Amino acid sequence: MHINDAVFLEDLCPKFRFRQWRKSIHKFTGKSCIYCGKPSESIDHILPRSQGGLSSTENCVPACLSCNGDKSDENALYWYRRQKFYDPRRAMAIRAWLEGDLRLAIRLLQWANPNFKLSNKNYEKDESEYRAA
Ligand SMILES: [Zn+2]
Repeated sequence: MHINDAVFLEDLCPKFRFRQWRKSIHKFTGKSCIYCGKPSESIDHILPRSQGGLSSTENCVPACLSCNGDKSDENALYWYRRQKFYDPRRAMAIRAWLEGDLRLAIRLLQWANPNFKLSNKNYEKDESEYRAA
């Protein structure tokens, strides 16, 4: 499902911009799945394209492959409610994201996950260690 989405998105804009856009989406959540918090490996449409969902930032969230594949063509809000890892704060975050309030969405995700990281500090640390060695 997500592979088809990617092709569709690439048709819309030049490759570089598309890659930047994908990156920025993952950055919002610190590269974690908006549904379960695992590393995000794909972009998921909250409202599936088969139901008229757009490939806009408001409708596209970072998701792990497991959530993306399991959710398939369902509306994310309905699908998410049935999951074992359901967290009302994340559900609110998804709703806020869909409404275009990414600031609120990120604050809710931070609340749901205290280990949530926004910066690239891990990379910086790796680099300085590399230089020291
Ligand atoms: Zn997930």
